[in-house]
Amino acid sequence: MCGIIGYVGDDNATGYLVSGLEKLEYRGYDSAGIAVIENGKIDVIKSKGRLKALEEKIQAQSGFASGTVGIGHTRWATHGEPSDANSHPHLSKSGLFAVVHNGIIENFSFLKEKLISQGYEFKSETDTEVVAHLLEKNYDGDLLKAVKKTADALEGSYALGILCRDYPDEFVCVRRSSPLIVGISEKGNFIASDITAILSYTNNIYKLNDGEIALLSKSGVKFYDKYLQPLEKSITHIDWDISAAEKCGYEHFMIKEIMEQPEAVRATISPRIRDDGTIALDGVSLTKKELLALNRIYIVACGSAYHVGVVGKYVIEKLTRIPVEVDIASEFRYRDPIVDGNTLVIIISQSGETADTLAALRMAKAKNARVLSVVNVVGSSIASESDDVLYTWAGPEIAVATTKAYSTQLCMMYILAIHMAEEMGRIAHDETRRLLSSLMAIPEKIEDILRLSADIEETAKLFKDLEHAYFIGRNIDYAIALEASLKLKEISYIHSEAYGAGELKHGTISLIEPGTMVVALACVDELFPKTMSNIKEVKARGARVLCVTTAKHSEELKDIDYTLIVPDTDNLLIGSLEVIPMQLLGYYVAKHRGCDIDKPRNLAKSVTVE
Ligand code: GLU
Repeated sequence: MCGIIGYVGDDNATGYLVSGLEKLEYRGYDSAGIAVIENGKIDVIKSKGRLKALEEKIQAQSGFASGTVGIGHTRWATHGEPSDANSHPHLSKSGLFAVVHNGIIENFSFLKEKLISQGYEFKSETDTEVVAHLLEKNYDGDLLKAVKKTADALEGSYALGILCRDYPDEFVCVRRSSPLIVGISEKGNFIASDITAILSYTNNIYKLNDGEIALLSKSGVKFYDKYLQPLEKSITHIDWDISAAEKCGYEHFMIKEIMEQPEAVRATISPRIRDDGTIALDGVSLTKKELLALNRIYIVACGSAYHVGVVGKYVIEKLTRIPVEVDIASEFRYRDPIVDGNTLVIIISQSGETADTLAALRMAKAKNARVLSVVNVVGSSIASESDDVLYTWAGPEIAVATTKAYSTQLCMMYILAIHMAEEMGRIAHDETRRLLSSLMAIPEKIEDILRLSADIEETAKLFKDLEHAYFIGRNIDYAIALEASLKLKEISYIHSEAYGAGELKHGTISLIEPGTMVVALACVDELFPKTMSNIKEVKARGARVLCVTTAKHSEELKDIDYTLIVPDTDNLLIGSLEVIPMQLLGYYVAKHRGCDIDKPRNLAKSVTVE
């Protein structure tokens, strides 16, 4: 999720590690740390908070200055709140190994229990610490074999930097589904999760593929495949400057984050879905009895998170048959909502610090409601004050307009809805399995849509000079219309509105005139004919219509001006697919209008004022 740097060379490693971590600060992090091999032992310094706190600790510790091999980390917590103890690097039992890790070890609970039963003591709440202890357990004097054996036991995503006290002149890295590169330079050899960390020393890098291992020393780098067979790899020369590198070569953080969605969704859902088709929700302790006693659910959020809630309402009501109301947090707070001990309040917030949402949470708790939050930042105020927490593992989001946090929140709502329905006996296990297998296929389908971005950019050109646009849809299509309209207006400054498709004729249709652009979202099968009728109504008044629908309806689009087709999936999950071209549409329209996409005027990423 966050940053890794590693160095081996002739020089003192600490300076390279700290300056590399500084270059990674733009990504956001909650703690940082470094480990250096020094006089036959591994020294670790780590600290919660900004890098400055780490630097002060380093300065205060005399003798932390001569090691020439080291690893460093900025952490974006996924397991265990930000704290000194949870910061990386993590040491193995006897201090033989130190590890930095980006990603999520999905089977860490299983591994941890086993290690505890074998006498290993854990000093942190992280998933990462299992890696350090496993390395020591698997070590028989051969570093590479221990790394291979350990990597083979891990499920999930990882980029790992590993120091071993017995190998004072070398270090190792290995990755799976989390980025890691090796850089070579005259000053020494590096690993980094992100080229920005080492760009001031080198443009020559090796890209590591899934499962590959690299052993770095000051004289060079050796590569191995996952069977420890030596590999020949070729150098890639990177021409980016720092600004391009921070965005991985993309023009803006927003498009980078749009493109990261398959990975973010996968990271969020896959640890929650067991191989046997059941759901693992560690952060939720609601029992069957408590669920059956619920009289209503409120979903409370702001902005795009509120739009996730609108989808959530359809999905939760459909599956659990519990009445659900969705509220904007700043409204909920002041309307004296009917809340009691049998009410569940679901709070959705990317930052976990949204002021109105936090105040709504406190009010709900004061009225004895059970509060479950869906949050992207571990240890945030909303997470700490909730009874149950479901973390989205989108990683840090930098663009003000949310994309990957939205998509992961949406998937969390599906999993929660399915979990509740199954617990309550409202859906059969076969149905759960079917829905979960459709959900597991979503990341790949998002990838398919992202491949169409050049076509979507062409469509976006139609919007470039518009003053107004309207989005219509029914049911989940309506919930996505809300988000699509917000995405367009917040970054391109085109006035846009979203309506339930059947609602237009109760007033707004009077605004339709020849040339008005209407985006019709028509993916929900049973409502497709209804939305088509609404399309006819606006076309009859001269509107131009862009219709977003699924592959199965692609033959039924006669007379529609423009179309965007997304893959088919279960109707309950379709929002996760149809929102993607809408994010791309907003992005490309803003780009062609020359807007400041990552920092739209008047907006802040985390809204901590009422
Ligand atoms: N899952 C690990 C943790 O929570 C790594 C987080 C990261 O990628 O920064 O410590």
